[in-house]
Amino acid sequence: MLDVTGPAARPDTDEEFDVDLFVIGGGSGGVRAARIAAGHGARVQLAEEYRVGGTCVIRGCVPKKLMVYAGRFAEEFEDAAGFGWTVPEPRFDWNAMRVRRDAEVTRLEAIYDTNLMRAGVDVEPQRAVIEGPHAVRLVRSGKRVRARHILIATGGHPVMRPDVPGMDLAISSNEVFELETRPDRILVVGGGYIAVEFAGIFANLGSRTTLLHRGERLLTGFDDEIRDGLAEAYGRRMDLRLGRSLSRLARGPGGIVATLDDGATIEADQVLVATGRTPNVAGLGLDTVGIDLDGAGAIPVDAFSRTCVPSIYAVGDVTNRANLTPIAIREGHAFADSVFGGKPWSVDHGLIPTAVFSTPEIGTVGLTEAEARARCGALDVYRSCFRPMKATLSGREERMLMKVIVDADTDRVVGVHILGHDAGEMIQAVGIAVTMGATKADFDRTIAVHPTAGEELVTMRVPAVTKRPEGVG
Ligand code: FAD
Repeated sequence: MLDVTGPAARPDTDEEFDVDLFVIGGGSGGVRAARIAAGHGARVQLAEEYRVGGTCVIRGCVPKKLMVYAGRFAEEFEDAAGFGWTVPEPRFDWNAMRVRRDAEVTRLEAIYDTNLMRAGVDVEPQRAVIEGPHAVRLVRSGKRVRARHILIATGGHPVMRPDVPGMDLAISSNEVFELETRPDRILVVGGGYIAVEFAGIFANLGSRTTLLHRGERLLTGFDDEIRDGLAEAYGRRMDLRLGRSLSRLARGPGGIVATLDDGATIEADQVLVATGRTPNVAGLGLDTVGIDLDGAGAIPVDAFSRTCVPSIYAVGDVTNRANLTPIAIREGHAFADSVFGGKPWSVDHGLIPTAVFSTPEIGTVGLTEAEARARCGALDVYRSCFRPMKATLSGREERMLMKVIVDADTDRVVGVHILGHDAGEMIQAVGIAVTMGATKADFDRTIAVHPTAGEELVTMRVPAVTKRPEGVG
């Protein structure tokens, strides 16, 4: 049971503290925690050094997804001809997209601010650092705040590779949102979802795109067939270089020249490096309270987001558990309910539906085939690879891939992986079933929605692969 020391349990020491909760960081996790805690009656102050909304709203999920939408129109215009449309030569205006995208981000930022204000949270637009187990200092004003609890929700930032000469010529995913023109040629370095998504965005928007990744496959941690399917699709859309790494960058007469480890050179107008992110902990004062970092530079916490200091908690990317917005939000919510609402609960990080907004898109939940092989005694893998109906008339060279992975001992669906249109939307719904513990029999008795791509998920009858323990027929 959690040691709950919220307002209800508060003794007569109110004067000892200026606030019940001080939140450092106004991103996904911090904002949710602050609002919920205030709703439970806590006096809450929150410091944000940049813009309320954090990475997701300001320079992550939201502006990126708007750019994904922008890029995908190119395909729609092309495909329309197959359905009888005559579309005049489409032209893309980067600046128009940028202005509208940034206005939307500003609108959302204002909504976040208003919601915090309405909840009664006192927002300090400045950097905060920790000075003691119950002490925070606001850096610009120099004001000191005594807080019963401190929540660290400072997120993370991109790491550029200092080992590569000329790295100052490259941009990260922060600066990509500040580009004033669309680069005609872009080199994207990295194999994680951020690199993959931006390579897809720029290729769709008409930039000559190279995606460079030192591994042999993109998207570590995803199902291998999905990874291969994406690489095949990307190979048609851009110059995909796998198994090669960046040795140096230099300014040349025609642009930035990237030299690879095999001596090959690539000239580009922009180089986007998206090879990793690291928690925002520098100068935060963790050493003053004795919080040591883990091997990844993150703040170690227990299931209830408690650090080793009883009054200090941490949620979101700064803890490097699962660096996604819905996880940061949920961790913040669980923290606030547990500490201030008298309802302790913790986040289950075991089953996380997620999407990669590449084109084609990826949606995934649960175990990959390789993980399931290692964990399940008996396994059935159902697979469907097909040409989506829309591609028949559009003539687009496109396949959709779906996999349903079943623990054959229990009949439980332990993983679903989708590559193709609307995979992210589909996986959200499938995620409910998988989270509820759906069996393959449940999938089978679900009536198909026809004609959709999603109906394949409930009409796969024969496993493509089966694994049985040795000696079992
Ligand atoms: P953040 O949202 O990063 O918020 C931390 C805040 O703390 C920041 O605003 C920062 O300015 C502030 N701060 C830091 N230090 C201090 C200090 N000392 N004092 C005051 N303020 C401070 N996730 C998804 O689920 N789906 C996606 O599609 C997706 N796309 C992404 C695309 C990109 C390009 C990136 C970079 C990330 C993406 N993410 C996505 C991840 C998601 O943005 C993060 O997981 C999420 O924002 C983490 O929330 P957080 O609250 O931990 O930190």
